Amino acid sequence: MNVLLVNPYIIDFTAYDLWLRPLGLLYIAGVIKKYSNASLYWLDALDRFQENAFPEGDPEGTQKNLDKKNGTGKYFRTPIERPSIFRNIPRTYSRYGIPLESFNEKLDKLPQIDVILVTSLMTYWIDGVRFTIETLRERFPNAKFILGGILPTLVSHTPLKNMLNVDYFVSGYGELKILDIMENLGEKVLPHPQLIELNPDSLPYPAYEFLYNQNYLPLLTSRGCPFHCTYCASDLVNPRFIERSAQSVYQEIEYMHSHFRTSHFIVFDDAFLVNKQKRFLKVFKQVREQFDVSFYTPNGLHAAEIDQETAQLLYNCRFKMLRLSFESTASDILSRSSHKVNVKQMIQAVDNLEKAGYNRNEIDVYLLFGLPGQSVAQIEAALDFIKNLGVNPHLSLFSPVPGTKEFNLLQETGVLSDPVNLYQTNKIYFLYSKSGLNGQEIKQLKDRSSLLLSPNH
Ligand code: SF4
Repeated sequence: MNVLLVNPYIIDFTAYDLWLRPLGLLYIAGVIKKYSNASLYWLDALDRFQENAFPEGDPEGTQKNLDKKNGTGKYFRTPIERPSIFRNIPRTYSRYGIPLESFNEKLDKLPQIDVILVTSLMTYWIDGVRFTIETLRERFPNAKFILGGILPTLVSHTPLKNMLNVDYFVSGYGELKILDIMENLGEKVLPHPQLIELNPDSLPYPAYEFLYNQNYLPLLTSRGCPFHCTYCASDLVNPRFIERSAQSVYQEIEYMHSHFRTSHFIVFDDAFLVNKQKRFLKVFKQVREQFDVSFYTPNGLHAAEIDQETAQLLYNCRFKMLRLSFESTASDILSRSSHKVNVKQMIQAVDNLEKAGYNRNEIDVYLLFGLPGQSVAQIEAALDFIKNLGVNPHLSLFSPVPGTKEFNLLQETGVLSDPVNLYQTNKIYFLYSKSGLNGQEIKQLKDRSSLLLSPNH
């Protein structure tokens, strides 16, 4: 059986490669590789490091530019027509990812494909998923299409069936479900009693060999988060907070470093420092002594966990471009954020990081922007707090994620339509059309936030 694994295009007003890697799909690839004889093929519309990821002569595609910014950077984008619901949004709507000619050339080189697995991330990236599936359907009309990832996990399958020409939807963790589907389709699957989705230590390593830049690889030390913020879907995607053993995390770092010569690791945990005695402190005391590598945490760290010992270990293990989750100074918003951090803890965390060796201007702090009911004054107060702290604000746009408390409330009060219109879950659409902030206020707040960024940011 020939199986093609696909990371689809993004279609949106904005997209930036902040080490966005299809980690779930890489895990699935690792499982199929180990437990079947299927031949695997890989097609990632978003991998900026593959050949022809940019048109010839595009400066973003030069090695010099690809090597800049610690492995992050801009995607190639193709402006496209927007759906009518977005007609008043003052931004360009684009398809992000490799030029379509490159995508088609890669399809030309593939053999006949039997099964196509497509992953998905944001619910409002449905157009990118649909475009990718339609393009693949034309080439492989007889293949069976399976969609996994966030979209079928958070959105009920009945409306999705009308939007996407797919044979199977896989909700939640897909490692065992994919093997079952493949077996039903006639592939011989090896026995796998030791494979337990709720125990990530039992999973084979993700198939990192499919990524073109193995110098920056993703790492997951836990799944989910023990908090339940009203706007976050972490607990919908991961029914429990599951932690890997320190030993298994350390062994994976060792494997990636020796096998792929990886020197930068991107930690994608939602709650990396939670229960730090069990994982973070154990693993990274060992890492500090053994490896000369660096780490990044794009998902934001829980500031309340950053005591002096933790701050020092973060610094000594070269955690760079630190991002801390803060959200707001307003008590109502802190409560919707599970009280995961307060003002005092935030000040203490930044003090500890500074004592450990970080400059304040190296630290970014996430602030919520556009949460329903959030006033201009509340956002200004949060920005003032960040200014006094001397760190960089990073406005994190609220998106109503289906199934979350905030989303349900917005549907009940008629702000969002029922049944769901996935375009309405787009963060830019929500900010401009539903957040209650007007265009001028949005501009002023964004400008004010930009002024607080350190010059080299
Ligand atoms: S702490 Fe972060 S990851 Fe956890 S529920 Fe809240 S927003 Fe989500």
